[in-house]
Amino acid sequence: MQMTPTPMSEFDPALLSSGELHRSWLEVPIGLNEHARLPLLAIRGAAPGPTALFVAGIHGDEFEGIAAIPRAMRELDPSTVRGTVLALPVGNVFAFHSQSRTSPASLDGGNLARSFPGRESGTPTERLAAALFAFATRLLGPDDLVVDLHSAGTRYRYSRLVGFREIPGPARAASEEAARHFGNIDLSVLWSIVPTRGMFNSETSVAGIPTVAAEAPGQGSCSDDDVQFYADGLTNLLRYMGMTPGPRPARDSRAAASVTEILAGTDGLFVTQVEADERVSSGQVLGRIIDAFGELRSEVIAPHDGRLTALRTFGTVYAGEYVAWICNE
Ligand SMILES: [Zn+2]
Repeated sequence: MQMTPTPMSEFDPALLSSGELHRSWLEVPIGLNEHARLPLLAIRGAAPGPTALFVAGIHGDEFEGIAAIPRAMRELDPSTVRGTVLALPVGNVFAFHSQSRTSPASLDGGNLARSFPGRESGTPTERLAAALFAFATRLLGPDDLVVDLHSAGTRYRYSRLVGFREIPGPARAASEEAARHFGNIDLSVLWSIVPTRGMFNSETSVAGIPTVAAEAPGQGSCSDDDVQFYADGLTNLLRYMGMTPGPRPARDSRAAASVTEILAGTDGLFVTQVEADERVSSGQVLGRIIDAFGELRSEVIAPHDGRLTALRTFGTVYAGEYVAWICNE
């Protein structure tokens, strides 16, 4: 392993020896005299081809992708790779080290996944966002692929969701087509994602780079099945891109589903009556929000039939936080 960090802004994959897995550190200046150091796994193939960039850990408490990226990279035979595979398993190292979704309050409390495209002269989290975004847009273009792996984190449980941002532009169709080749169709929902700005995967989509985003069950855990689901998806996408040999994954031809977000109407303790991934019907009570005297403050009701693709599993909730998603399949 190369221990001397390379400035992220100067990293050049063309300088890597081809046909082997490189592990090293990339350095991002975040203040007067401080740097963030991000682990990088990289393979430059012997033959030219597209570039794939795998990113996880943009939220520090979302673990499946952090474990899946090195698993997928280590299972590749570097001598057979066409093009370049770059992988940053821990996007927000500050959040990861503090066992937190966001950067710790002692740094700036920033949510990296709401900070893109970043600000070079901003807070440490904004500078990290600017460096990651510049890395992606400098090294990738319309024939390449970004994969941004997320998870439910510590306060929710999700279904496995694989999708693309509904952001109009040149990357929209290619992003959807790539998401349709993640594989493991029986195990996941094909997801049409709201065009919210500020996430890594929304800003790379806006920048014209085909981008797949995914969610895993989470709830603070990191199950081997979910890690393998993600690792298989990355392997399938490399085959789909023609970057590694092997059978091209089957195309998922289902209609892509959006989700309805259900917000807590009141603060309180959310007592759930359903399980994540369960099918629910219109009008069904998903849970009750109570106060410390046991009085009912509000009920959480399913607005329509569908699969419960997200459920808040952390007991207390503030008004306006989401408590569930129902898939519009
Ligand atoms: Zn996330």
